[in-house]
Amino acid sequence: MALLLMPWTLAAARGGRDRPHYVSLTEWARANVFAFHWLERDKTIELTGRGARLTFNVESRSDARRAQINGVQVWLAFPILYENGTALISQVDLAETLGPVLSPPVNPRGIRIKTICLDPGHGGKDPGNRAGSNEEKKYTLLLAREASAQLTAAGFKVYLTRSSDSFVDLPARPEVARRHTADLFVSLHFNSVEEGRNDVKGTEIFCCTPAGATSTNARGEGDTRWVAGNRNDEKNMLLAYEMQKSYTKNLDVEDRGVKRARFQILRESTMPAILIEGGFMSHPAEGKKIYESAYRKQMAHAIVEGIIAYKKAVKG
Ligand SMILES: [Zn+2]
Repeated sequence: MALLLMPWTLAAARGGRDRPHYVSLTEWARANVFAFHWLERDKTIELTGRGARLTFNVESRSDARRAQINGVQVWLAFPILYENGTALISQVDLAETLGPVLSPPVNPRGIRIKTICLDPGHGGKDPGNRAGSNEEKKYTLLLAREASAQLTAAGFKVYLTRSSDSFVDLPARPEVARRHTADLFVSLHFNSVEEGRNDVKGTEIFCCTPAGATSTNARGEGDTRWVAGNRNDEKNMLLAYEMQKSYTKNLDVEDRGVKRARFQILRESTMPAILIEGGFMSHPAEGKKIYESAYRKQMAHAIVEGIIAYKKAVKG
């Protein structure tokens, strides 16, 4: 059953020159047969229905962008607003954040997800993040090789944007995927923070920011124009969600959520694309795991499961 994005009662949808269109979360829930209740009065809302469970924060502007879909953290494009006792959600989030997960965009019948392009971040003269003597480029390639082997064993055709310690320009990466008519583009990275903040850990998955919205990491700044990656907004989101769900289910990792960014490789991808930040090299325990082949095998397994979950969801 398709979701109603704009219940008829929303003639009063509150838009304005300076903010996107917002609609009442209660009315949207009613129109789409979700039960609405407060987990914590004036703080956290829970909606249940259609086999799904959604939670939203109305407490503060920073928390108000953090939602959960079936326990998976997802950053909204715009914060939930709470005005005169009514929670409001942006139409962009109904259409581009909740919609693709609750009512997946299916492919025409017979179209199968078969070819995957894996993109080990950095390489050659670009080491990526560093933690001590460890360089990100080495571990993204090792993970890509492992994921490639497991995907191949699962029946997928796999291409890598690089298969050695070589430098590949950013624009050339989505181009490799396009040339091989890949169905999905998955970029692999590891995070790091500066010295002194090495308690930060966990996994986050990025997909392209919808047109008109600001990126999760941009604090309301930056260009919000339409880019090529926006042609797959719904599938980008679904893939990011399924991947984060698989990571958090299969691995003992902190869920930093599905986020949006206009990274060049995401902007320029012509097929559904995500960027996985698989953990923090700068965190003593998480870094140690990233450097272990047994743990990378588990990460690769999570990647395979995420792709298979997406493949099932879009099957026509
Ligand atoms: Zn990186």
